[in-house]
Amino acid sequence: MKTVYTFGPGIAHDDSRARDKAVVGGKGANLGEMARIGLPVPPGFTITTEECLHFLRDRHSQSARLDGEVRSALTHIERTVGKRFGDRHDPLLVSVRSGARVSMPGMMDTILNLGLNDQTVRGLAASSGDERFAWDSYRRFVQMYASVVLGIDHARFEDALEKAKEDRGVSQDVDLSATDLRDLIGEFFGIVEAERGAPFPQDVDEQLASAIAAVFESWESDRAKVYRRLNGIPGEWGTAVNVQAMVFGNLGETSATGVAFTRNPATGDKAYYGEWLVNAQGEDVVAGIRTPQYLTLAARTAAGAKLPSMEEALPAVFTELARLFELLELHYQDMQDIEFTVERGKLYILQTRSGKRTAKAALKIAVDMVEEGLIAEEAAIRRIDPASLDQLLHPTLDPDAPRTLLGSGLPASPGAASGAVVFDADTAAVRAELGENVILVRQETSPDDIHGMHVARGILTAKGGMTSHAAVVARGMGRPCVSGASSLSIDYQARSAEIGGVHIAEGDLITIDGSTGEIFQGALPTVMPELDREFATVMAWADRHRRMNVRTNAETPADCEVARQFGAEGIGLCRTEHMFFDGERINFMRQMILATNGTERLVALDRLLPEQRSDFVRIFEIMQGLPVTVRLLDPPLHEFLPHSESEFTELSAAVGIGVDQLRRRAEELAESNPMLGHRGCRLGVVYPEIYEMQVRAIFEAACAVSRETGQPVVPEIMIPLVGTARELDMLKQTVIGVSEAVFAEQGLTVEFTVGTMIELPRAALVADEIAAVGEFFSFGTNDLTQTTLGISRDDAGRFLGSYIDKGIYAKDPFVSIDVDGVGKLIEMAARLGRETRADIKLGICGEHGGDPASIAFCDRVGLDYVSASPFRVPIARLAAAQSAL
Ligand code: ADP
Ligand code: MG
Ligand code: MG
Repeated sequence: MKTVYTFGPGIAHDDSRARDKAVVGGKGANLGEMARIGLPVPPGFTITTEECLHFLRDRHSQSARLDGEVRSALTHIERTVGKRFGDRHDPLLVSVRSGARVSMPGMMDTILNLGLNDQTVRGLAASSGDERFAWDSYRRFVQMYASVVLGIDHARFEDALEKAKEDRGVSQDVDLSATDLRDLIGEFFGIVEAERGAPFPQDVDEQLASAIAAVFESWESDRAKVYRRLNGIPGEWGTAVNVQAMVFGNLGETSATGVAFTRNPATGDKAYYGEWLVNAQGEDVVAGIRTPQYLTLAARTAAGAKLPSMEEALPAVFTELARLFELLELHYQDMQDIEFTVERGKLYILQTRSGKRTAKAALKIAVDMVEEGLIAEEAAIRRIDPASLDQLLHPTLDPDAPRTLLGSGLPASPGAASGAVVFDADTAAVRAELGENVILVRQETSPDDIHGMHVARGILTAKGGMTSHAAVVARGMGRPCVSGASSLSIDYQARSAEIGGVHIAEGDLITIDGSTGEIFQGALPTVMPELDREFATVMAWADRHRRMNVRTNAETPADCEVARQFGAEGIGLCRTEHMFFDGERINFMRQMILATNGTERLVALDRLLPEQRSDFVRIFEIMQGLPVTVRLLDPPLHEFLPHSESEFTELSAAVGIGVDQLRRRAEELAESNPMLGHRGCRLGVVYPEIYEMQVRAIFEAACAVSRETGQPVVPEIMIPLVGTARELDMLKQTVIGVSEAVFAEQGLTVEFTVGTMIELPRAALVADEIAAVGEFFSFGTNDLTQTTLGISRDDAGRFLGSYIDKGIYAKDPFVSIDVDGVGKLIEMAARLGRETRADIKLGICGEHGGDPASIAFCDRVGLDYVSASPFRVPIARLAAAQSAL
């Protein structure tokens, strides 16, 4: 099997591995593809991800030498370009670029201008006729190589560069002359010697071999690992390495480098969106070295920027670029994120990939592309990340709230966020861990800040444009971001900042609006956003394609209403215990629990009955004839008991029992392992009057609403924590008994079913017997995961992280169903249940009901519905459609 694939004009491999992102990485696959369809891509070659894994497994077998395949691929570049690597007169230079299966922007390393040394730099000066250009390229190369390959802190070189500019009294890199740059390189060499005790390597073959090794190594860097963990990217993928002939954006005024999206990645608008810099190279745009210029005249005018757009400055190149944008969108049928360089008026494309975008943009682009006839509805559904819809449901600023505007920057990633200002990623992580909302405020972010950006509510930077690191990463994470707020000045040492003349200390509250770029003092109130046309359109498409129903887990009228707005088709889990905590009810509840005999208990239950009934009336009214699964009391009783001194005193006054007696009773009820103790249906078995009261409340409410509205009401009564058919049978008889009594009193009958939660392994094992009694199963995957894995969810925090890092579980089993274990039980219980009762209704009501991967699993095993928390209902609708396609 080949380990190296060449790309460039006229090269088309028959080997499908050359197009496989798993083998050659996303960047490599797309470079090959673009070259094949005739785009101007500098020639190069890709070393496979498999080689990366070999290398990382056995670093010593690879010394700093070029193996045969790399050597001959390099010869291919030399022939195509007509220059030789290491040639003293006209040297070929290359870039060495990382490229994993999925893009990990800026996470791993890239080295440009490789192949320069004290000799070839003079050859480059002579062949290009531009002395300054040659030394600028050499300066960049030495700096990148020394930090990436030799591992010397990049700040050392940046400080030296800053100092050189100060000494010459200039503010920008481009103002340094050839001589200045040569002197600076001398200083860089000094730093390298001092740090490494050896001179900067002059052998170009050694440079190349070591650079390739360093890019492989960067797969294991801390920041790459953090990024992988946050994005669920497996460590076993490895990265490919791309070695490519250099083209130069730093060759004077007709040369440039830039980054562009074929549509607006923040809003989805169909308008080119990008930035570029004259006489610059590589990462200059993204790194915010200078203020980048706009691509289009329209964008420049809208922003009121002075520097000319590319459309104005290099009109012919811009026209060509626009043509390629269209071509690439058509080819990949998606919005593209493109990196390009112009060398003396000639355009080259250096990268393309499907662009990261906000959820809002994802919806708009998908709907637009269907309307443009570019893609089909199914493709549109498939490409929207269901989890990202969460962003759209995020609050926006309350338009009526009074506000103090401090300043503004670029609207880099939409949404509003408030929080305490922090000035570094570590502080962000610490304070967020303590439950505080933080806004990460930085000069500019870098890949080292990822962990802080992840925990921050929002991100604010002083420098950098719309394609800066902060902007790109924030959009990908769905964090609101304002970038390039030039009126913001930060003093990291003093841990304070100033915006618009206002002093901001660490911990002060601010609000940013990533949709407008505004920055406000204090924490402003927010409101629910309006969901737009694109959202409704995509949801309607999803509904057309999904097989499973989507319900919600809700018990308050407010939650039920939200869930209905989001399209819930019923309630999959209404937890009745939450209803007992409100106001005075808790006292009746406590009285009921503390009762020493049946009569006392009935007195308390009688007072709870009307309260429960009115809750159910509201819920049935809102749900308008949709099914409502009500779970009878589940938690151990002592959870309702008072804890603090004052609570005991208050209760004593309310129920007229002495504090001492109350405390004794509370002690009696305490359990050493309540999760497996007297809870769930075991309460109903020992105290049938509790369930009788709840069921009475449900049926009385159902009769009332059905009479009032003339619509059917569909209660489904769910008995929790059943492990045997006998338990369910006893309690089902109780339910039927109460129903007969209530229907007789009311002179009215409502249809209902009785079923159970499958949340104990035993229940899954004897599901055939349980199905003989129960008319539905709802998989309670939170408890089923705890009981199957023998892991308490509340205690898992101590070790589950290590388990996931070590790959023992691929994902957090409380977030995404453990398909191999818990999944097997579900599959079996579903099959056994159907064997006994062909029309048994099957659903899931754990947290997993809102997790796309778990939803796909539920679809596979043929469940009838999933039930998710109200804000996850849209996610579930889309995920259910994706799994049905
Ligand atoms: P990342 O994956 O972090 O974006 P890249 O490998 O894309 O890293 O390299 C970053 C930038 O370096 C590119 O956007 C491009 O501007 C520049 N670059 C890479 N290879 C070349 C090349 N062969 N010629 C000119 N510029 C290059
Ligand atoms: Mg790139
Ligand atoms: Mg449970």
